[in-house]
Amino acid sequence: MALVAGVDVSTDHYVNGRRLASAVTFEDRSPLDGSLLANVSRGDAATADAAIGAAATAFPSWAALGPADRAVYLRRLADLIDANVERIAAVECVDMAMLHESLRLRVIARGARNFRAYADLAAAYVERAWESNGTRNRVVRMPAGPAVVITPWNAPFMLSTWKCAPALAAGCTVVLKPAEWSPLSCSLLADLAEEAGLPPGVFNVVQGIGEEVGAALVSDPRVRRVSFTGSPATARQIGVAAARNLVPFTAELGGKNPLIVFADADLDAAARKAAGQYDDSGQVCLSGTRLLVEASVRERFLERFHHHTDQHVLGDSRDPETTISPLIHPDHLAHVAGFVERARAAGDEVVRGGRVWREGGLWYEPTLIFPRSNDAEIVQNEVFGPVLTFQTFRDETEAIDLANSTRYGLSGIVYTGSEERANRVGRAVRAGTVWANCFLIRDLTAPFGGIGISGLGREGGDYALDFCSDLKTLQILDGSTT
Ligand code: NAD
Repeated sequence: MALVAGVDVSTDHYVNGRRLASAVTFEDRSPLDGSLLANVSRGDAATADAAIGAAATAFPSWAALGPADRAVYLRRLADLIDANVERIAAVECVDMAMLHESLRLRVIARGARNFRAYADLAAAYVERAWESNGTRNRVVRMPAGPAVVITPWNAPFMLSTWKCAPALAAGCTVVLKPAEWSPLSCSLLADLAEEAGLPPGVFNVVQGIGEEVGAALVSDPRVRRVSFTGSPATARQIGVAAARNLVPFTAELGGKNPLIVFADADLDAAARKAAGQYDDSGQVCLSGTRLLVEASVRERFLERFHHHTDQHVLGDSRDPETTISPLIHPDHLAHVAGFVERARAAGDEVVRGGRVWREGGLWYEPTLIFPRSNDAEIVQNEVFGPVLTFQTFRDETEAIDLANSTRYGLSGIVYTGSEERANRVGRAVRAGTVWANCFLIRDLTAPFGGIGISGLGREGGDYALDFCSDLKTLQILDGSTT
């Protein structure tokens, strides 16, 4: 147990309804000041075996409950999350350094919404029923089995609930492995699952290093679904493990998303949104990090962009005035700084930022780069930090070509005053989600995912419930039964 931001947090795994400690631990430090928050149990192959075993044993009775009965547990869990928002936000703020105000007001509550939304959706499922070829047919959802959920270090609580909620609602049992750089808020989720009365083994949390316990979890042949959010490099490894066992696998991966601004747009709104891409230090997969602006409004846009970027306040994430928090880890700071150094060396122009903000801390200044060409590394690869590139285009065709010129395809943002153009460009941009004149507005029933190296499969709404189910066609010969 560790006392973190005044909250008692278990540093152990949660397996079969009990806390389970490992003899070996790993250090979890706060990005705010490098202080040691906890020594966390470092799971191994035996931990993975115990957790999958518990999930496999618990599966038949959880699956047999049916969506309406499972929904009762999930709604209880949602209520408990709402009742504990302040505690979870306090812990995640020092563990991941996301802004405390966004955690309290928005991000943690989304965890509760995730469970409620999937409780409702799973219970509302109507089997497709029709007659053909002299048979009465139905499409039946069968819970798939134990599912492994692997999540990244950014927004760990929200992203974990987003993936665990559909799995549990669909009747899968779950083993969740949060990332080793921000493991603590998911430990609180295990406490709440227990308080909500989820039967032992239905929801398990295993802590540890990806290449160790994570790899053991995704290789276990008893696992029937693997749901992953993280980097394309890890997805390739997990995909190979899932393929060996012929297990369906979804991957929500990185982005290098275009933010396209047409001359007919509300330029100030577009520039404000562009400067807002530095929020959370750019550690957001959906961020529009490639600014593509119509050449005729280049100077006017840049003037407004600099004005809005100047309003950012770097500081402690617990301070309500702060808008830019430190990066998650010294290794990640080196990763972000390395991108900018290589860009500089290659001849890209660093127009603002491009420096560590406070020596010894993990803040990186909001950075804008004019790349020398569209092939530049800084344009083509995800940085996952407060680094944006700026390019201009002459017309709609060039805007779309530039938008679609990377291997990624997670999201796109378009600013235009024309509804027709919003529709045309929105359809032409190859990405899982495109927002026009807005950003991050989410309907949890909509499909969510990436194209290319941004992901495989779709989450959200019924898409996630179908993924966590085996769909069966049941055919009964007409007139053969009474
Ligand atoms: P990562 O791929 O390094 O790690 C993600 C998780 O995978 C961690 O829990 C890690 O321990 C685990 N892992 C690592 N190797 C493993 C292995 N061999 N087997 C099993 N598990 C393993 O990613 P990260 O650095 O934690 O996260 C940042 C990335 O996540 C960025 O690319 C970001 O864009 C992406 N992301 C995507 C979304 C989305 O919804 N598309 C959301 C958030 C983050």
